[in-house]
Parts: sequence; structure tokens; C-alpha cells
Amino acid sequence: SPLILWFRRDLRLDDLPMLSAAVASGQPLIPVFILDPETEALGAAPKWRLGLGIDAFAQTLAAAGSRLILRRGPALAVLEALVAETGATGVFWSRLYDPASKVRDTEVKAALKARGLRVESHAGHLMHEPWTVETGQGGFYRVYTPYWRAVRGRDVAAPEAAPARLPAPDHWPASDRLEDWQTGAAMRRGAAVVAAHVRVGEQAARARLDAFLSGPVDRYAEARDLPAEPGTSRLSENLTYGEIGIRRVWHAALMAFDQGRPGAETFLKELVWREFSYHLMHHTPHITHANWKPEWDAFPWQGDGPQAEAWRRGMTGEAFVDTAMREMYVTGTMHNRGRMIVASYLTKHLMTHWTIGLDWFADCLIDWDPAANAMGWQWAAGSGPDAAPYFRIFNPATQVEKFDPKGQYRRRFIAELSRQPGPEALSFFDAVPRAWGLDPARRYPAPIVDLAEGRARALAAYAARGGQ
Ligand code: FAD
Repeated sequence: SPLILWFRRDLRLDDLPMLSAAVASGQPLIPVFILDPETEALGAAPKWRLGLGIDAFAQTLAAAGSRLILRRGPALAVLEALVAETGATGVFWSRLYDPASKVRDTEVKAALKARGLRVESHAGHLMHEPWTVETGQGGFYRVYTPYWRAVRGRDVAAPEAAPARLPAPDHWPASDRLEDWQTGAAMRRGAAVVAAHVRVGEQAARARLDAFLSGPVDRYAEARDLPAEPGTSRLSENLTYGEIGIRRVWHAALMAFDQGRPGAETFLKELVWREFSYHLMHHTPHITHANWKPEWDAFPWQGDGPQAEAWRRGMTGEAFVDTAMREMYVTGTMHNRGRMIVASYLTKHLMTHWTIGLDWFADCLIDWDPAANAMGWQWAAGSGPDAAPYFRIFNPATQVEKFDPKGQYRRRFIAELSRQPGPEALSFFDAVPRAWGLDPARRYPAPIVDLAEGRARALAAYAARGGQ
């Protein structure tokens, strides 16, 4: 009798504890992906990218003598039906930590256990599960640096290699067709443009890691701040769907560190930022949707409107902001420096509520991650733990001179700023909805907000509340 493997954000065979545990049972294995309401709720770009990931993973499984069974519906009902159809004796999965998944998984676990099934959830998405890292007083960390100190020397178990083959059942249950799920239906923006930039699946993720550690890591500490340079690993796209295991990445980076590679420690620290964001999301789940510091509830945030819309469209007239927003439409991701700038500009110069930006990122980023996105937005807005103070306002005009001194990043993505726009700058106009009516032949817009005025308005609002 088989075991069911419920795959979610762990679309890989390498470095997967739940798979190792299942293989050790010696039972046939039935891998399944469920399009449940929680997954249906994904934003347009993450859902489209998930579809690509599922397709690639199905091929990986096929090459290992297995299959990926696709089913749609509430997870518990689907799993119960599969158990009835296949005679499975257990269900295994890798744990997730966002509020909706935790509620769902707790219910599923209790219900399946009550039926006498062997139900096992394993670590897999993180190196350090949120409850395993505690302060001296037994609480959780609210500040990154002590968190980093607490985990940097910890042993991280070595990743387990992928099994060559997965034992198959005698009979496979029926599967939906991925095409029928229409995972790209909400991707009204040009999926074809973004498709040229994605790197899908385990092999591609591994190639990214190897390529980064074979060279760019040496300059990472400096180059990671320069958005025109390919100075970062770009692994966020793969990590969010679990196409590569974090322990695999950590051990490879640790080896680079031991070899004295200059940027390796900075890179290890970034991987720990990801862990820290999950630590925060687990201990303070409201971080995903409400001001982490409640005193920010009374701040006079602006709601949605024409200014936020100009921001979304990459038409604010502020070059760094528009470049980064356009990068997101064209590539599906945005450089970290760009994310900080556009988030600061939206929440300070436009004084717009950070949740408006958070939601838009959740719709547009192929590397959308519930924890990193929430922590990033609350950091930029000043409402989060260990956040940038509100009064420290990035000036996008000076930032662009500092981090894009030769204007390469700007010219790469803003057609109106270049006499001979390159393919990516032009493809922005194919990537955005036609209804926006954007045209590369038009003049680049004048700034929608004077930077000095926007800054003064934000600081006055902040001061009127006596600082927060
Ligand atoms: P590298 O520089 O190569 O870093 C390696 C890995 O470390 C990343 O893949 C990522 O997993 C992790 N990491 C790096 N920086 C951070 C960080 N600040 N917080 C958490 N983890 C980090 N990251 C996402 O993965 N998804 C998001 O939805 C997301 N939204 C963000 C929103 C805002 C407003 C901000 C300021 C940051 C956000 N980030 C998000 C964090 C960061 O911008 C990206 O992780 C990074 O740009 C990904 O590029 P990379 O893989 O080349 O990173």
C-alpha cells in the first residue's frame, strides 16, 4: 500500500527530508499537487510561474519512474479521496509557515490522523524552523543581527541526494491536466515577455547556484547593490517554489566561505535574512497584512488613487522608481535595491499605505514570497520590526546617481530615456496591459511629485504624530 507525497513549495527531489523519510518506508509513493483554495489565491505572476514549476517537476518525476498526480479542491477532501482510491496508508509533506497554510495543515493533519493514517510533516523550506531559534529569555528575535549571531554557527544537516527512482504503485490514480488549471489565466500582462527570463526547475536552479559560486560571489558584497550588474544569485525565483533546497545552497556557500571567497559571508547573511523573515512571520503572523507596530494604524496613509496607479505603471517620472517597476514587468523580478527604492518612494514620497505596494508585488513577482515580501514592505515603511526609521527617506534621484552612475539600468528598461532603446525597454510595452495605453514614442513623464515636497509632507505627518 502506497504513501501519498503532498508537494507544495518543495518542487524537487534533492535535499528533501519528507521524501527521504518516505523512501525509507519502502512503500510505493504517489506524488500529488493540489490546486486548493489557498493556492488558487496566489497572485497572477506567482501562479503562472507555479504552473511552469509544476510542469517541470512532473517531468523530473517521470524521469525517476514516477508521476505527479494533479487534483483540484480543498486539500483535505482531495487527500481523503486519494486515500480511498489508492489504499494509501499515510500522507507526507514539507511544512509551510504562512498563516493560511498553518491553519489548513493543522486541520488536515488532525483529520487524517483521526482516520488512523500515518501523517508526517517535515522541515524542508527552511534551515532553522522558527520555533527552534530562541533568545536568552526564551522569546523570539525581533532584530536581525542577534538572530544572525544565534544561527550563523549552527550545524545545518547535510542535504540528502535525490533518490534515483521513486517506487511506483501498481495503479496510478487519475490526474487533472495541467492545461485545464489555467494557471496563467490571470497573467493579463504579457507572460511571453516574462517567459524569456524565468529559469524553471531543479536543474536550472542548481545551474544558477553553481554559476553564482563559480565567480560572482567574489564581488557580491559590492556588486549586489548595483542593479545594472548581474551581481546576485537570482535564486529567489527557485527558492520560493522549492526548486532548490536551502540546505543545498547554504552548504555550497559555506564551502565558498571556507575557501576564503570574499563575498561568501555576505551571501550567507542574505540567506539568513530569508530565515529571519520566516521567523517573524511564524511568531507574528499579522506581519503579512497589518502594521507590525500597531501605532502605525493611526498614520495618515493615503489610499489607492492616481499616484499609486502611476507607480504601478512605472510612470512616476522618477527614473529609478520607474526603471525598477518596469524591470518587474519585463523580468518578473526586481533588484533588491530597486525594491527598497520603490517601496520607500510609495510609502514616503507618495505616503501611500504599504499594503498597496505589498499586494502589487504579490501580483507581479515570480519570486513572490509571503515572508520576505511582508518583511521587506514593513521594513521600508517603517512599521515593521528592525525597520528603517520612517524619517530616513531614500532620495531616488541621488540613489540612482550612486547605484546606477552610468545610467545602464535606466536605459535598459526605460525606452523613453534612450535614443535606441534595447529589447527589454521595448518589451515593457508588450508586458503591460494594453488598457494602460502606454507608448514608447511618448515623452517620459514629468515627476508626479516634487521630491522635496513629498519628503517634507511625509516628515510633517510623521512629526505631527510625535514620531511613532
Ligand atoms: P541574492 O542577493 O542572491 O540573495 C540570496 C537569497 O537570499 C535570495 O534569493 C533570498 O532568498 C535571500 N534574501 C536576500 N535578501 C533578502 C531579504 N532582504 N529578505 C529576505 N530574503 C532575502 N524576496 C523574495 O524572495 N520574495 C519577495 O516577494 C520579496 N519581496 C521584497 C519586497 C521588498 C519591499 C523588499 C525590500 C525586499 C523583498 N525581497 C523579496 C527580498 C530581496 O529583494 C530578494 O530576496 C532578492 O532581491 C532576490 O534576488 P536574489 O535571489 O538575486 O538575491
